[in-house]
Amino acid sequence: AKQEGRNRYRFFSQSIESDARARHLLESHMRSALESGVFEVFYQLRFDVSRQQSCGMEALIRWRRADGELVSPADFIPLAEETGLIVPIGKQVLHQACHDAKLLLDQGKRLCVGVNISVVQFREESFLDMIKEVLNDTGLPAELLELEITEGVLARDMDQTRALLDELKHMGVRIAIDDFGTGYSSLSYLKRLPIDVLKIDQSFVRDMLTDRSDAAIIEAIVRMGQALHLELVAEGVECSEQSQQLLALGCELMQGYLYCRPMPFEQLRKSLDLLPAL
Ligand code: C2E
Ligand code: CA
Ligand code: CA
Ligand code: CA
Repeated sequence: AKQEGRNRYRFFSQSIESDARARHLLESHMRSALESGVFEVFYQLRFDVSRQQSCGMEALIRWRRADGELVSPADFIPLAEETGLIVPIGKQVLHQACHDAKLLLDQGKRLCVGVNISVVQFREESFLDMIKEVLNDTGLPAELLELEITEGVLARDMDQTRALLDELKHMGVRIAIDDFGTGYSSLSYLKRLPIDVLKIDQSFVRDMLTDRSDAAIIEAIVRMGQALHLELVAEGVECSEQSQQLLALGCELMQGYLYCRPMPFEQLRKSLDLLPAL
C-alpha cells in the first residue's frame, strides 16, 4: 500500500508539472495572439420571434490558431482570467464589437451589441474609464452597448457593484445578466440593481421539452422578469419546438442555432442585407 501511495504521489506530481507546462505554453500563445491581433470576434444575432426580426447581436471571441483551427473560448478564457490577460483581450473584443456595431449603424442598421464581461475585468479599477474610452473612440451610442455579466459579478461587494452599474446606466449602457438561473446569488439584487435583461441559461432550454422542471424554471423566470419589467432572452434555442414553447411561455427574444450561428462580421453584414429592414 505504501508503494502504491508513493506511485500515486508521483503520478499526481507529474501531472501537475505537465499541467503547469501546458498552462505556461497556452499563456505565452495567448500573449502573442494578443500582440499579433489574431483574436477574432464572431457575432450571433438575437431575434424577436414575435416580430420576426433581429433585435441585437452577441460578440463572441474566437481564436484562430496558425493551422486555421478555432480554439473554443471555454478552453482559454479561464486561464486568461487567472493570468489577467482577459483584461487586454476583453478590451480588444469590446473595441472590435463597438466598432462593428457603429459600422452597421452608419449603414442604417441599428443593432445593440452584447459583450461578455469577465468578473476580472469588472473588478479592474479602470473598468469604467475603459468603457468610456472605447465608446468615445468608436463613436457607438452607449444605448447600443449591452454588457453581459454573470451573477458571480454580483456576489461580491454590493455597494461597489451598485455604484458601478448605476454609473453605466447613467451613461446609457445596458446591463444583461448572462446564464441567468445558474448562479448562487440571492435574487434580491434584481430589485436593487439597474438590470435590463435576463438571459435564460441554455441548460434550461436544452432540456425544456423533456424535463418538466426545466420548463417550470423557465416559466418562473419569465413571470418574474415580466413583473420586474426586464427583457428576457432565451439562449441556445436549437429547434422550433423549443421556440414555440418559449413563445407560449411569454419569452419572445431568442438566440440560438435555430436562428443564427455565430459568424464573422462580414458574413453577418451580408446576411443582414437579406433580412427585412430593422
Ligand atoms: P455565453 O456567453 O453563454 O455564450 C453562449 C455560447 O453558446 C457561445 O459559445 C455560443 O456560440 C453558444 N451557442 C449559441 N447558440 C447555441 C445553440 O443553439 N446551442 C448551443 N449548444 N450553443 C449555442 P462560445 O462562443 O463557445 O462561448 C462560450 C463562452 O465563452 C461564452 O458563453 C462566454 O461565457 C465565454 N466568452 C465568449 N466570448 C467571450 C468574450 O469576449 N469575453 C469573455 N469574458 N467571455 C467570452
Ligand atoms: Ca453571453
Ligand atoms: Ca450565456
Ligand atoms: Ca456560459
